[in-house]
Amino acid sequence: MRLYENRKVVLLTKHKKEEVIKPIVEEALGCILQVENRFDTDKLGTFTREIKRPKSQLDTARLKIKKGLKYSKVDIGISSEGSFGSHPFAPIQWNTELILFYDKSLNFEIFGLYEGPETNCDECIVRSYEEAVEFSNRIGFPSHYVILRPDHNKSKFIIKNINDYDTLKEAFELCLKKSKTQSVLIETDMRAFANPTRMNNIKKATENLVEKLLITCPECGAPGFQVQEIIRGLPCEMCGFPSEIAKEYIHVCHRCKHKMVEKYPCGEHSPAQYCERCNP
Ligand SMILES: [Zn+2]
Ligand SMILES: [Zn+2]
Repeated sequence: MRLYENRKVVLLTKHKKEEVIKPIVEEALGCILQVENRFDTDKLGTFTREIKRPKSQLDTARLKIKKGLKYSKVDIGISSEGSFGSHPFAPIQWNTELILFYDKSLNFEIFGLYEGPETNCDECIVRSYEEAVEFSNRIGFPSHYVILRPDHNKSKFIIKNINDYDTLKEAFELCLKKSKTQSVLIETDMRAFANPTRMNNIKKATENLVEKLLITCPECGAPGFQVQEIIRGLPCEMCGFPSEIAKEYIHVCHRCKHKMVEKYPCGEHSPAQYCERCNP
């Protein structure tokens, strides 16, 4: 696909996300990735709760692209936005990384995703330097940074950029001195440059993005020919009752609106275990 060859694509980041994003998109699209760091992305929300993340992940990613295009005067943008939390059904930590691509001249948007349990996201109250070291070692310190504050995770006083044991000790002692409860909250730093595990997940999301971008419309060649609609109701293998499983994917071109129906993407029948009649 030659559409983006030698064209500028802007990435708004001050957390060094270009380290993984730039080589992948430049290799796949032949574009020139330009980093824009004049806007402070932390204003759109931080992981350490000083500033609340006001919008959904996709909306925040859109806002970052908008800022990037505005500052750089480039008309194609890319942005990345992560979220961390508990898995909806299991007591494990879960990372969702979204990477968004927007071409203003085509008014075309597409995103790549990584979702999975590979994250060190954690926090702990500690009362001694030894406990702080124990936590740090467990989460992959010092290649993964930690953040400290006195008492609890709502404390305004906060020390970031801790990535060696001397700084950790100093920060621990300072936070302990400021603490009203003789305890210190230690947590993982989730900013991309401070967290190689997260950086690697951003890389996987970027690979997913270019994979989707490189699928072109069979009619007009526009990039990012993808599933726009899922038709559910695949019949049960036992009784034929429609299930929640997809029976068709509808791919639609964002440019010429060419439609392709992909029949039975998950097989021709759904297992009886998912049937409301056979297995209520
Ligand atoms: Zn098309
Ligand atoms: Zn059934």
